Order: sequence, then structure tokens, then C-alpha cells
Amino acid sequence: MAIERVGFIGLGIMGGPMAGNLLKAGYVLTVWNRTAAKAEPLAALGARVAGSPAEVAAASDVTFTCVTASADVEAVVLGPGGVVEGARPGSIYVDCSTVAPAMARRLHAALAARGVAALDAPVSGGDVGARAGTLAVMVGGERETFERALPVLRAIGKTIVHVGPPGAGQVVKLCNQVAGGLNLLAMAEAISLCRRSGVDPARMLEVVSAGAASSWMLQHLGPRAVAGDFAPGFMVDLMQKDLGLVLEEAHATHTPLPGSALVRQLFEMLQARGRGREGTQAIVEALGLLAGDGPGSGD
Ligand code: NAP
Repeated sequence: MAIERVGFIGLGIMGGPMAGNLLKAGYVLTVWNRTAAKAEPLAALGARVAGSPAEVAAASDVTFTCVTASADVEAVVLGPGGVVEGARPGSIYVDCSTVAPAMARRLHAALAARGVAALDAPVSGGDVGARAGTLAVMVGGERETFERALPVLRAIGKTIVHVGPPGAGQVVKLCNQVAGGLNLLAMAEAISLCRRSGVDPARMLEVVSAGAASSWMLQHLGPRAVAGDFAPGFMVDLMQKDLGLVLEEAHATHTPLPGSALVRQLFEMLQARGRGREGTQAIVEALGLLAGDGPGSGD
């Protein structure tokens, strides 16, 4: 059966543009957001606005969520008026939030009991990838469900990989955050050394981004960090949520991750100064503080 009707719950920095791309791909889209105003731009483009997550699910062949943390996805799926109350047997539920692997398995079991197949499908690529429809999507769940959902997932992502059973998508996303966090630290240390040695960090980024030490962080967030532009693509508070999940998983599996623990402490310095809603490129400011430069001094 062809999938025509898609629902989207959680229209934030990521969910808003992802839902927009589903609309552009031609799906009949129904949306819901806790803060109703964020649904208006999509309504103007032709999306229907539902009164609750349950109503979204009732109107959809595939229902997406992209909310903040484990407790939030639990609320919109299992809480009153949640997805589980409206989802029809035979439909598919896809969670693109980054949450604990255990929560993904719980949602999968709760929905399976209602005849609804679930995928955990966290994403990577930031606000830039969400707008461009080029996200990397790491998918956990049954292979057959993955195959059915794949045409829809192609509207939001470019690299879409089935990585294993329920929860595996979230485990892979945590691995992504380990690599991403350490790349952020690498970017910040390079900028800090460059600056304190009296060389223009913008020139450094220009050439180092083209060489073997390049990374997505260096290319996309390096220029923002150097310019002192700390507006969030991905907020420090969200990174800390994810690094918390990383260290929980590391503890549960007795996996030493010294680098990730260090990155978490550096972000803690920013949160302690009320800067949790800035973008993760603000990690350069934590290094500035360690060097005695003070925040905002590095330009
Ligand atoms: P965001 O802009 O803060 O959006 C969060 C969304 O979740 C908003 O629509 C918010 O509704 C909704 N929400 C949160 N708690 C809720 C609750 N209890 N009930 C109902 N709705 C709730 O965050 P984002 O950057 O889009 O991130 C969303 C998810 O994607 C997170 O899990 C994040 O880790 C992950 N992610 C983000 C990025 C990135 O670069 N930003 C990249 C990859 C993955 P309101 O509008 O009412 O607040």
C-alpha cells in the first residue's frame, strides 16, 4: 500500500524543516506542535494542523516525532492524547528525536501491542541538513518496516541506513555524538592555539578545512565560532542531554570514553554561565576561559 498521508509532531529547529520537506515531496501532511505558532508556516504551505498527537496519528500512514528528550517523546507518544491513542494498526511510527536506546525499545513494544510498527530514526546533519533534506538517518527496527518507510525517509535524508533492531538507531546516534563532540573539541583547540599565537584563525580554517584534518565541525561551525556567532544550530543544552546518554550507555557497557567525559565538562562550564542555549560552537569560549582570555574576548 502506497504511503500518502504523513504526520509530524515537534516542529522545532529540526522538525520544522523536515516536515516542510515532506510537504514538498508531495505527501499529505498533518502536523502538531505544543507551541501552536510554530505550525503556522507549514499551515500556510498546505499542512493540516491537528489538535493533538493522537489526531495526527489517526490521520497518517506514517507518523514522525522530533521532540527534545526521552521524557518528551514519552509524553507525546504514551501520554494522554498521545500517538498510541490514535495510531491505526498497520501504520508506522518513526521517532527522529535523540533519546535513550531503552526508550526506543519501550516505544517499539508499546506500539507493537497496538499493531503499529515503530522505527527509531535519529538524524545527523544539523539545521543545515534538515533544511536541505540531506540528513544522515540511522534507523533501528524491523527490516521490513524500514523498507516500507524508506520512500518517506528519502524526503528528509540522503544517507539512510538500517543499522539493526529497535534501539540500534539510537545507539548509533550516540556514537555520532561521541565523534561529533570530539571533533568540536578539535576545532576549538585549533582556533584557540591559532588565535593565541597571533595568526588569523579564519585563514587557518580556510586551509585546514581542505586537508586531512578537516571535519564537518571545522567546515560549518569553525567560521561561526571565529566570527563570535554563537546562535544555535545545535544547542549546548541538547548536546549535554546527548553526552549524558552517551556516558550512561558507556557505564552500562563498561566502555571507557575519556574524551567524551572531558567534552561534557567543557560544555558544563558554558551551562554554568547561563550559555546553554547557544550553539555548540561556543565550546571555543570554554577554552578561552581556561586560557584566561575570558568569554567574548576572542575576535
Ligand atoms: P528544538 O528546536 O528545541 O525543538 C524541540 C521540539 O520539541 C519543539 O517543537 C518543542 O515544542 C517540542 N517538545 C519538546 N518537549 C515537548 C513536550 N514535552 N511535549 C510536546 N512537545 C515538546 O530542538 P531541535 O534542535 O529541533 O531538536 C529536536 C531533536 O532532534 C532533539 O532530540 C535533538 O537532540 C535532535 N537533533 C537536533 C539536531 C540539531 O542540530 N538541532 C541535530 C540532530 C538531532 P515547543 O515548540 O512547544 O517548544
